[in-house]
This record gives sequence, structure tokens and C-alpha cells, in this order.
Amino acid sequence: MRLVSTRDSRNRATFAQAIRSGMAPGGGLWVPEPVPCFRDVQGLLALDFQARSAEILHRFLGDEFGRAEVEEAVASALNFPVPVARVRERIFALELFHGPTLAFKDFGARFLARMLALASRGDGRRRTVLTATSGDTGAAVASAFLGLPGFQVVVLYPAGRVSDLQERQFATLGDNVRTFAVEGSFDDCQALVKAAFGDAELAARLGLTSANSINVARLLAQVTYYFEAVARVGAAPVIAVPSGNFGNLYAGLLARRTGLPVKAFAVATNANATVPDFLETGVYRPRPSVATLSNAMDVGAPSNWERIHALFQGDLEAMRGALRHGSLTDEETLASLRDLHAGGYLSEPHAAVAHGVLARVLGPGETGVFLATAHPAKFRETLERGLGLRVPLPPALAAVKDRPVLSRTLPSAFAALREELL
Ligand SMILES: *Cc1c(COP(=O)(O)O)cnc(C)c1O
Repeated sequence: MRLVSTRDSRNRATFAQAIRSGMAPGGGLWVPEPVPCFRDVQGLLALDFQARSAEILHRFLGDEFGRAEVEEAVASALNFPVPVARVRERIFALELFHGPTLAFKDFGARFLARMLALASRGDGRRRTVLTATSGDTGAAVASAFLGLPGFQVVVLYPAGRVSDLQERQFATLGDNVRTFAVEGSFDDCQALVKAAFGDAELAARLGLTSANSINVARLLAQVTYYFEAVARVGAAPVIAVPSGNFGNLYAGLLARRTGLPVKAFAVATNANATVPDFLETGVYRPRPSVATLSNAMDVGAPSNWERIHALFQGDLEAMRGALRHGSLTDEETLASLRDLHAGGYLSEPHAAVAHGVLARVLGPGETGVFLATAHPAKFRETLERGLGLRVPLPPALAAVKDRPVLSRTLPSAFAALREELL
């Protein structure tokens, strides 16, 4: 697969180079160019999830990896169910939270770990996977790389702004996983990661690699479940994507570019409405993030927007044609949760934002799918306070809930991070 930088199409990379470097030189992001076009989408949709996913990923990666390698990566990384729940007439939830850390980020992180190990086999270099998390990435990345020889994982997260259970999922592992509670916001954590990558000496000494959604391997893995959604609901649906950093939406747009029939996407955000405001006004105005109930979407300057902008070549009208949009306050998010629960479906704040926006933008006769990105138990405090519901802990969370947190506290200053890393 050939990739180019969003900031300079003369900057090119293979997939192996792109996933090792994380970001393109000069701060751009790697995007596939050209995006392959599948002429046999109906045939693909007829396959089961694993066979179809291996086929799709092999079409992207077949010039660099053998079919058996891709099949093995898919079989071991995407080895959990992807159910579609019918929530009401013509509205479905695509449940992406049945992986080991109970959020959709398992798809990308697990596939990335396997592809990075393949892409760096035999080079004998130690690699440091540096990642910023607003909650779920940390758990998915730490779990995907835990114990993987040759890899060290460093997770940065905003102190006090992730749930207790989220923190226990990644900050209690030890082994090759180090975690830092940063005194700042998620955007501050992202800025620290960017600064680390911008420090050529540091990046070289540590073999720095990013596991954030700027890493294109994660996004490719996420293309697969959009096909599953369409395969299961039949008619070309409107798909609502609860968005923060906009990697998930970019993956959906890639899937559509390959030929997948999706009528439109619905951009769904919480109060961090940078992109809905842009679609409304045509003015892109990133801003500091504000804290909400759907904390994994508390992003005011979404890093993957640059990829979406590049995919549409900045054409605002084309974006408006493909992207409906909406944003929910915390009150509206709770109302959406109550609405879902009244219909017999227990959800959590991120999916509830997507559901609430979908309900607003879905036209008569259309079929809607919203992405359910996290397991309800990950947000049980909110569900208890907002709905008065007790949510039992699934085994994966019960196992970590009393483990001691091993994180160190870090000021939001690059010099402090640099010192810790060296
Ligand atoms: C990360 C995350 C999101 C946002 O996904 P992006 O790809 O960053 O837009 C939504 N919901 C949950 C539960 C998440 O963990």
C-alpha cells in the first residue's frame, strides 16, 4: 500500500514505514493514496466477518504482506464477536465492545500490535509505543502490547479525567507498560506526544512509535466493521459515529470510498462540537476541550480531521453531502440513555450521543446504525447516577478493579516527559 502525507503528497511511505513512524515528516498524517476500489462489494458482504476482514485488509496490504500473514493477524487480533442489536424499528446498534478491554479501540490496537511486530521483525531494535489516552485507548494499547518482546509501552492520560475503572485497566499492568497521570487535559497529553515525536534525537533513541489513532494501522482495522454493519442490516444505512479524535469516522469514510454502500454518516459529538460547528458554518475553529459524560470524546482539536479534510480535498459541499451532524449536551445524553433503556437497551454515554444524533437526522424510511463504542459497565458510575441502575461488572473489569494503580504523576511539560523517557 502506498501512503502519502496529508501535508505534502511528495512524502510517501509503505505501510510498514508508516506504522513504524506513526506520523509523516513535518507533522502530516499518512493516508492511503489511491484508496482501492472494490468492484465486488456484494460478494464481500456475503462472507463472514473474519474471512471478509482478512480479504479487505489483504487488498490494502497484499503488496507488503502475504495472505497467510494478514489472515493470521486478523484471526488473532479480531477474535471476538461483533453483534448487531436491533434497538427499535430500523435502528440498530453495532456493538464494538466485546474485545478484551471492552471498547472499540481493541480492533485497532490489537491489529496494530501484530502488524508492528511483523513490520519490525528481524531489525533487532527496541521500540517504544507512546500513546495519549482520553480513556479507552490506554487500555486497548496496553493490553495489545503487554508482554510483546521488543516493545515498551508508555501511556499518558489526563489525571482525574478518566474513570476509575478505565485507569485500573491500563495503569495496573506493570511489565512492559509504564503509565503517567499528566496534570492537564487530553489535548495536553496529545501535545506532549507530538512534542516527543518532533524531538528527532528522542524519537531515534527510543524507537518511538505511535499507537494513537494517528497510526494508520488502527484505522485500517476499523474499516472492517463498517462492512459488517452493512452486511447485517441490508439497506445502505445512515451510520452515526460518536466522535472525538475522528479516527473512527475516517475509517468509515475509507470504507465508503472503497465502494461500501453507506447512505451518509452522522457526525455525533458531545459539547466538543468543533466539527459539527464547522459543517454548520464552514469555519474550522479548534478549541480547548471541555469535560463531559462521554469523556473519550472530549477533544477540541481532533487530530484525524486533517485526514478527512484531505479525503474530500477540502470540498465543504462534498463533506456536507456525506456528513450529517449533531452534538448533545450532557443532559441530552442522559435523555438518550433513558430513551434507549426504556426501549430495553442498556447503553453508555458515547453510544447514547450517537443514538441521540441519529434520531435527529434520520429521515423517513431510512435505516440507521449507531456505533456502540464501549461496554456499559465501563461507565457504570454515570449509569447509576443518571439512570439509577446498577450495572454488574463483567469478568474483565472485576479482575482489575482492586489492583493498585502504578502510574507516576507528570506535569504537563515536555522537559519532564523527556527526562522520564530517557
Ligand atoms: C475513542 C472513543 C471514541 C471516539 O473515537 P474517535 O475515533 O477518537 O473519534 C468514542 N467512544 C469511545 C468509547 C471511545 O473510546
